[in-house]
Amino acid sequence: MNAPALAASRAPLLDRGADFPILSRQVQGRRLVYLDNGATTQKPAAVIDAERQFYEQSNANIHRGVHWLSQHATDLYEQGREQVRQLLNAARHEEIVFTRGTTEAINLVACSWGQSALKQGDEIVLTGMEHHSNIVPWQLLCERSGAVLRVVPVTDSGELDLDEYRALLGPRTRLVCVAHISNALGTINPIAEIVRLAHEAGAKVLVDGAQAVAHQAVDVQALGCDFYVFSGHKLYGPTGIGALYARYDVLNGMPPWQGGGDMIHTVSFERSTYADVPQRFEAGTPNIAGVIGLDAAIRYVREVGLEAIAAHEQSLLAMATAELQALPGVRLIGTAAHKAGILSFVVDGIHPHDLGTILDMEGVAIRAGHHCAMPLMTRFGIPGTARASLALYNTQEDVDALMAGLRKAQKLFGTGRKDD
Ligand SMILES: *Cc1c(COP(=O)(O)O)cnc(C)c1O
Repeated sequence: MNAPALAASRAPLLDRGADFPILSRQVQGRRLVYLDNGATTQKPAAVIDAERQFYEQSNANIHRGVHWLSQHATDLYEQGREQVRQLLNAARHEEIVFTRGTTEAINLVACSWGQSALKQGDEIVLTGMEHHSNIVPWQLLCERSGAVLRVVPVTDSGELDLDEYRALLGPRTRLVCVAHISNALGTINPIAEIVRLAHEAGAKVLVDGAQAVAHQAVDVQALGCDFYVFSGHKLYGPTGIGALYARYDVLNGMPPWQGGGDMIHTVSFERSTYADVPQRFEAGTPNIAGVIGLDAAIRYVREVGLEAIAAHEQSLLAMATAELQALPGVRLIGTAAHKAGILSFVVDGIHPHDLGTILDMEGVAIRAGHHCAMPLMTRFGIPGTARASLALYNTQEDVDALMAGLRKAQKLFGTGRKDD
């Protein structure tokens, strides 16, 4: 282990597993070792209780209501918006739009901002490590607008090639789209620098924060980005809820994308006028209970502390990285200098899916496949990887269980070390 890894491994570990009811269940007759947090995180009792309490005590439709309960539900919903503002350190609560998640937030920007701002020959810069959610909406936009995609290459260690990035930026670049943290590699990208360079070229920047918000403190003002998106379900919150942050001047200049109730000012058959932001982008009855659950999830992570969560996950990451690298026949995909708690790897002679199945029989849940990043897998010349992704409730025992499962798989396949 190198010096920083050793230092990180001495940081105090959290012990919050008891907050998560599902972690006390068994799967396949074994203790559940949940290492698929990059796909979705488990929910603390605080989140489950908040949703239940909302339906038991506060349920009504929001906005427009004259009765007490509707105003009460509206207050709770808007408190959720304020909670997201604080999480991201946005300047104003009007900069927060609730969406179904990361995917919908990106589609919102592509359909609203993209459709109105882009024209033939304009360029959108993406990176080679984007999730399909941060590729396909831009391809659709290119088909409609005549804009073209340019792609920042990824180095062998899984970092963005910043020289190539600088070279791609030019007068036609209108937007740069980049993951804050890669879901397939764990790379933490240098967002502030990426934003600075994009802004110098006159381009806007959308940051996909799906893998970041639960694992480190995020400050959109310090990053300087124009758009930042995330999903609640990867932040210990419910599925079906997430948010878009957009700088006020940018958001306020964007046309509606979905029409319906709540997003209008006046409606007549001749002409409708639209509500101010953020309501302009929240057509129809939103996922009110989802916002209540997301609010509780953000309170929970802020109470545990994002610095403490990051230190905990870095300790486990350092430990697991050293152990994986010591196993013969195991190759880590993604060895960037700055990494979050994601371990993507391939094992000689064992297909990632077989590995996932063998680990599952030990109660260890990991993900195997392309991780919705097929271009990145192509870049590394592999069909997929096995991926263990960490969360605040993972422990040293979880890492031990992963390693034991891997040794067992190698034994079954007759690969790896021959003397154990
Ligand atoms: C999970 C993920 C998404 C998609 O999030 P949804 O919740 O499925 O909308 C996008 N980008 C990254 C980096 C992700 O990890």
